[in-house]
Amino acid sequence: MRALGFRSHGGLEKIEVMDLPEPSVGPGQVKVRMRSSAFNRLDLFTLEGMAGVTIPLPHILGGDGAGTVEALGEGAEGLSRGAKVIVDPSLSCGKCEACLAGQEPYCRDYQILGEHVNGTAAEFVVVPRVNVQPLPANLDFLSAGCVALVFMTAYRALTTVGELKAGDRVAIIGGGGGLNTAALQVAKWRGAQVTVATRSKEHAEKASALGADQTLVYGPEKPLDRGLWALSGKKGMDVIFDCNGTSTVPTSVKALARGGRLVFCGGTSGPMITLDVRPLFWRQSSLRGSTMATRKEFLEVLALLAEGKLKPVVDSTFPLERGREALEHLARGSPFGKVTLSVP
Ligand SMILES: [Zn+2]
Repeated sequence: MRALGFRSHGGLEKIEVMDLPEPSVGPGQVKVRMRSSAFNRLDLFTLEGMAGVTIPLPHILGGDGAGTVEALGEGAEGLSRGAKVIVDPSLSCGKCEACLAGQEPYCRDYQILGEHVNGTAAEFVVVPRVNVQPLPANLDFLSAGCVALVFMTAYRALTTVGELKAGDRVAIIGGGGGLNTAALQVAKWRGAQVTVATRSKEHAEKASALGADQTLVYGPEKPLDRGLWALSGKKGMDVIFDCNGTSTVPTSVKALARGGRLVFCGGTSGPMITLDVRPLFWRQSSLRGSTMATRKEFLEVLALLAEGKLKPVVDSTFPLERGREALEHLARGSPFGKVTLSVP
């Protein structure tokens, strides 16, 4: 089968369309014929190679995807061959205390499709039955194939971990990333007052069109923390969603309200930060990490997508054969929303 990935770690030049053996379906598993896949920043980190994460090579990229059921392993029930499905990219052991309590992201064996194991940018993928859900009827393969990771991650980060409530002031740092466009919609659905802070005027306009109540175009002339503070009516933000790491967290954190929470699920510009702890304890604000979501939260997100309360934001679509170009666009093209792959 054709699959997009790499045979050794490195830069974008390592990306290639590979001819790999089709995976075979085992007990409790489902084989999906992929019709679409999508990229996340995670794919760029996986390509470069991450400390502490060893993956077998060659490796197939992509965490998200949608397609049709090709085959069902023994004991995999409740789906018929040909059914349209969406893939949940989170893998957990299903047996440990965390998994049995429905807190899968706390599983010690937690993995993500396309990061620790082969991903979805291929003609076929085999996953546990629990990772496959019926496609919401209002979504086509391309729009469904790009929503899972970003919406589940933004949903858990803001609602469960960030405890975002109706009426809260929330700031989303960054305008165009898939995760940010998902977070904006989750926060609006929750009834929060949403400010999107970005360095791009164009992304600020698009964020307004997507529902942001206020936007801040920050830069040397208008520092991020002071801009957010002013837009919060000098009360501070109840929740700040900032997954940039080094470049913005030390600044954005200064705009937290008393009791405010800065939630993050990554550090795209770099992992290291230096912080002044004084405003944190004096205002009793906190930094909270979050990753992915539980199976239950994933189903809640699917229900919101099915009701049209959350909507996929697709920046561009590339065929699998042009996957390198797609990743290049994600890395350097400043997309607004998701970069998706069609699997012809
Ligand atoms: Zn587990």
